[in-house]
Amino acid sequence: MSEHVEAMAVDILVVGAGLVGASLACALEGSGYRVALVEATAPDLSPPGFDTRKLALSAASLNALAALGVLAKLPTAPSPIRKLHVSRVGDFGAVRLDAGDVGREGFGAVVLASDLGAALEMRLSEIRNLQRLRPATVSAVSPGDHDVSVQIQQDDATHTLRTRLLIAADGTRSFVRTALGIGTIEHDYQQTLLVCSLAADRAADGTAYERFSEQGPVALLPMGRDYGAVCGVAREDAAGVLALDDTGFIDYFQQRFGWRAGRIFRVGKRNAYPLVRVLAERLDAPRSLLMGNAAQTIHPIGAQGFNLGLRDALMLAELLDGDDPGDAALLSTYVEARREDRERTLAFSDGLARITANDSFPMHLLRSLGLLAIGNSEGLSAPLLSGAMGLRGQVPALARGRA
Ligand SMILES: Cc1cc2nc3c(=O)[nH]c(=O)nc-3n(C[C@H](O)[C@H](O)[C@H](O)COP(=O)(O)OP(=O)(O)OC[C@H]3O[C@@H](n4cnc5c(N)ncnc54)[C@H](O)[C@@H]3O)c2cc1C
Repeated sequence: MSEHVEAMAVDILVVGAGLVGASLACALEGSGYRVALVEATAPDLSPPGFDTRKLALSAASLNALAALGVLAKLPTAPSPIRKLHVSRVGDFGAVRLDAGDVGREGFGAVVLASDLGAALEMRLSEIRNLQRLRPATVSAVSPGDHDVSVQIQQDDATHTLRTRLLIAADGTRSFVRTALGIGTIEHDYQQTLLVCSLAADRAADGTAYERFSEQGPVALLPMGRDYGAVCGVAREDAAGVLALDDTGFIDYFQQRFGWRAGRIFRVGKRNAYPLVRVLAERLDAPRSLLMGNAAQTIHPIGAQGFNLGLRDALMLAELLDGDDPGDAALLSTYVEARREDRERTLAFSDGLARITANDSFPMHLLRSLGLLAIGNSEGLSAPLLSGAMGLRGQVPALARGRA
């Protein structure tokens, strides 16, 4: 039987404790605001994003996660990406980038999403005054002039919680976004991404590889001596490739990727992700903001989704000044501050995805994105690498490594 529990009030309610919502809650520690974090999954079950996917974190994200005290909680240090190797089937040559050439130790580093999730969870448990509701599900939202009234289902009870600012960090199929009346623009890439671990006889040396073909992208991210592999497959072929045994998949992957990382001798379990781009038509509503995948779910080939969502969270934490967190002017400032980074990252990821999706798409797209220019002109390399490292445009202080 359902019981109704009376309203409580907070300043900021974050819906979704995935990678982005949890990071935001960490960034709001010490802000002086009363913050609550709602997560639908039970504490003994990981949120869906804390799985075996390997995440390439940009230099900016590493700076921020270190400053937030999250990196120190990882069970193993992130694996640095020191070199990038980008090629396309049928094109002569490859684009090679070395972080050392721009005076950096790495472009970023790779972590297992489940490890990052566990580290965030550990950090959240240290934050005093953070109110956690879990498992709890937001089931209705009604914005008013002074606050937003949010209905939350927990056990058999229905709570009403009033918040001055509501953050939708509830993922691609965001309930809050729909409840706020914000539509989406969607594109189905007609691809499925297969993700697994993989070992080759030549130990990984910090090089991340991306290879494009008409069948889709293939990439390897260094993880210790092994790799995290992603393999894009046309939707209609995905079931057949997933059904391959380990030997069959090794042959398939080796044929798609080639031998540049050596002979593959072991693969782990394959997980499949259908690829759909989902962009919110706007990022704000009265006293409400969208963030992370709820704001934009992008093709993973550019390894930008969490990096971008983390910058969403950091920017908000930086703009909050102790006054009304849901103030309309502050929300507009936030949306404007995120515009350029969001647009450029979406264009970058979508551009990469389309190279893979369309056989006739020429290498000039990569060139127009500036990747080839890096090989040829020192002048162009800095801005592009800054983008890849998450250090372009208006960068939150934490991402620049400042507390
Ligand atoms: C294969 C793959 C590889 C990727 N690789 C990279 C990479 O290398 N680098 C990178 O930066 N990004 C990468 N990404 C993208 C990255 O994983 C996502 O951008 C990121 O996980 C999004 O986090 P989120 O917190 O916004 O959303 P989610 O992870 O979807 O979290 C949303 C949370 O909200 C909760 N929730 C939903 N509805 C409700 C409700 N009504 N009430 C309460 N709670 C609710 C859910 O339980 C969930 O925990 C990759 C993605 C994929 C699929």
